[in-house]
Amino acid sequence: MSERQPDYARAARMAAKCLAACGWPAPPVDPLAMLRRCRHVALMTWRQALAELSREELAACGISPDQACGADRLAGWSRTVPGIGTLVIYREDARPEQRRFTLAHELGHIVLNHAAEGRSGPGGKYLSPWCESEANCFAAHLLLPDAAVAAARAEGADARELARRCGVTLAAARYALAGRG
Ligand SMILES: [Zn+2]
Repeated sequence: MSERQPDYARAARMAAKCLAACGWPAPPVDPLAMLRRCRHVALMTWRQALAELSREELAACGISPDQACGADRLAGWSRTVPGIGTLVIYREDARPEQRRFTLAHELGHIVLNHAAEGRSGPGGKYLSPWCESEANCFAAHLLLPDAAVAAARAEGADARELARRCGVTLAAARYALAGRG
């Protein structure tokens, strides 16, 4: 059976829909505020999760309490919790541009209804690579709205300037400038 392919057009469309629902906020977009407005979403910082959740509950989210902090480490996790909806845990100590991308990525999983695609594996539920690719595409379009990318192009602003305006990594800004048609 061939692996399902990511639907990037849908992910981009849903990101634009979220921005429209928020009245097209000027960058930098705040995905934490958007998540707070979602119904059936509970948010926890990494510190709160370590203090309040059991080892088993953490493991069910895919978190090892011994996980060291570092830029290369995951900065967010989400899981479906009966009676709540989705629990999103994020590292408050991650770099702002990394934290913003992670939260936008988790919002993408929720908006694109990926929870229904979760598969059980050791230690909890896992999402297929196409879900992760769609969530990344959603996050990129949410944090780097087409209008912001187009404006940067029209003004001759470089990736560094676009990254600064939108609060994203230089790599994300470069990718958007190169790839958006
Ligand atoms: Zn993900």
